[in-house]
Amino acid sequence: MLLLLAERMKVKEFITKKPFVIAGPCSAETEEQTIEIAKAVEDVADVFRAGIWKPRTNPNSFEGVGLKGIDWLKSIKQETSLKVATEIANAKHVDICLSAGVDVLWIGARTTVNPFYVQEIAKALQGVDIPILVKNPIHPELGLWLGAFERLMNAGITQIGAIHRGFYSYEKSVFRNNPKWEIPIRLREEFREIPIICDPSHIAGHTSLIKEISQTAMDLNFDGLMIETHLDPSIALSDADQQLTPKEFSSIIKNLILREENLNNTIITQKLSEFRLKIDLLDKKIIKLLHDRNEIVKNIAEFKKENRITIFQLERWFEILRTRKKTGKNLELDLQMIAELFELIHKYSIVTQTQIMHR
Ligand code: PEP
Ligand code: MN
Repeated sequence: MLLLLAERMKVKEFITKKPFVIAGPCSAETEEQTIEIAKAVEDVADVFRAGIWKPRTNPNSFEGVGLKGIDWLKSIKQETSLKVATEIANAKHVDICLSAGVDVLWIGARTTVNPFYVQEIAKALQGVDIPILVKNPIHPELGLWLGAFERLMNAGITQIGAIHRGFYSYEKSVFRNNPKWEIPIRLREEFREIPIICDPSHIAGHTSLIKEISQTAMDLNFDGLMIETHLDPSIALSDADQQLTPKEFSSIIKNLILREENLNNTIITQKLSEFRLKIDLLDKKIIKLLHDRNEIVKNIAEFKKENRITIFQLERWFEILRTRKKTGKNLELDLQMIAELFELIHKYSIVTQTQIMHR
């Protein structure tokens, strides 16, 4: 259904170069600050960003300068070569931005979660031909993100892009928002023509991780980056820990290693095919091993059934997890990957055993 929709509603390309770079402060704070940052990023960025209506978790936080910030964005358009972008969260914001000539709009993560708001915004944007970027919803639910694109496409909007800003998680992590790269990759599978821009600032939550996340986004063939930039991040009124100075920002962008998706060089493609062949063979072996393991699981289930033993034994599960992690550690594998892999294997072992027990 979604694929059919994407085919029908042709998405129009608005990315003028790769990486397409959006930079600017989390929030517009004063007129001078906003214009000065724009001038400082002008050489490297394509679009200037600044939030003027800020959705904050805590009502006592700085909630943006509001309407007067719009005039500052207009001045930037006059004084620099940059296009300007801001976050919109309702139809009123859309109307204000459209009459002021804001070039690019984005829907924030806290708005994407609410279909009522997305629908209201889509309606207000009907017949408008400017790029609309949709941030992923706060929690890792691809369906909500896809739904937002579908609502915009249904309203006839053709210049659509995605912003991957990571996902909230209760688990302790080095990231402010877990990148869960598999989700934007799934988005790409669903809507090939929608460009994806990574927002390393909100994923990282801290300046030290921004370079690495930006490079990962490029390695995964993302189309662009949105990076928060401030003249003096330490005194920023919002997201102080994650904003880069214009100099740090420029250095990261200039030092990105860019790769080609499809190489025309036959020697390189041949070598890549050789690696892929090896991977294909190994994956076949993994599947055969899973089959062999499952045969033993079935034997165990029959045995437990005859002897009236429960399927699940906590101690045995802990032992599996501990010993597999130890083996993985010796081979320098990612322990989180080992844990997740065996949780999945164990989950289906229980499914198989339950089916046999109930026969
Ligand atoms: C922002 O871009 O400043 C912002 C509020 O981001 P998000 O919606 O991703 O939290
Ligand atoms: Mn921010």
